[in-house]
Amino acid sequence: MSRRRRKTWIFLLGLCTVSLATGAAVRLWADWPRVALAPEIPTPTSSTPFEAQLFPPLPHTPLPSPPPPTPSPSPSISFSSLSPEESDTVAISISGVSATGTARGTFASSNISFLRAANGRWVGLAGIDAKMAPGAYPLSLTLPDGAVRRETVQVRARDYPVTELAVTDELRKKGYTPPVIATNVAAENARLAAALAGSPPRAYFDGPFVNPLDFMENVGEYGNIRVSGGVGLRHLGVDLTAKIGTPIHAINGGKVRFAEELTNYGKTMVVDHGLGIFSLYLHLSEFLVAPGDVVARGATIGRTGNTGYVLAPHLHFSMRLGPASIDPLRFLTAAAWAFEK
Ligand SMILES: [Zn+2]
Repeated sequence: MSRRRRKTWIFLLGLCTVSLATGAAVRLWADWPRVALAPEIPTPTSSTPFEAQLFPPLPHTPLPSPPPPTPSPSPSISFSSLSPEESDTVAISISGVSATGTARGTFASSNISFLRAANGRWVGLAGIDAKMAPGAYPLSLTLPDGAVRRETVQVRARDYPVTELAVTDELRKKGYTPPVIATNVAAENARLAAALAGSPPRAYFDGPFVNPLDFMENVGEYGNIRVSGGVGLRHLGVDLTAKIGTPIHAINGGKVRFAEELTNYGKTMVVDHGLGIFSLYLHLSEFLVAPGDVVARGATIGRTGNTGYVLAPHLHFSMRLGPASIDPLRFLTAAAWAFEK
């Protein structure tokens, strides 16, 4: 072997050795980054924090301020009276409450008739029956936001007058003797019971009540115990004097539930105002609407007369509020307070 050829072999062997060593080193280096760094993740190249490159800072624009929280309205609850007399109406006026939800309540063992008036106020009407025993009764209110308020209602006795009612010859000729009158009243009350049931749980009105007559003169007090021929009957209405043919107005929106002529009560109409609130109009000469008709507040629904057991033309006006018979004139006063307060 010549000297020149030996030198070449050594060079080639040396180059191969270096290549093998370099190749191993390159493979080791190339495998490691594939595990440690995903290809799409940039390699940190400076002192910039790694997180800052992944999530570059957003331009500094201030976020809009959240709206201020709506302050909870503070409810205002007023009562027409918490010490009413028998036959009174306790009116409740609630304002400053949330627009959603419903006001409810109970008085003694009955639900209070509650409606949302057009002005946004809640109006509640609780009847004290004419014969409710005087004493303390619980009243509970649940406001639209669920808050509960409890009160005690102190019912006071009402001094009902007792009067003698003469049976005139004219009435006797018509067959209105005391026993017949008592029998008729029982039978007619039973017929009216059906008309005084099934009132819808919503009101047919959202505003104040009006008087049934344009001119109001009470000549027959509510609750008066009338004794005639040894038979006593409590007068559960008021007698409003009116000449025959005077227009009678619906005291509020409602649905006519009854319009028939009865022996004692004469031509009788019942209007259901919803929520268990009824108005009754007796001794009419004429009906101007029929059962099933929906009437507006103040609509002329009939005309006064002298039909049935009467001494003179007048309108006998009665009201029922839930199970309670109430003084209708005191109801109108209490309801006016609640709606206009
Ligand atoms: Zn009467």
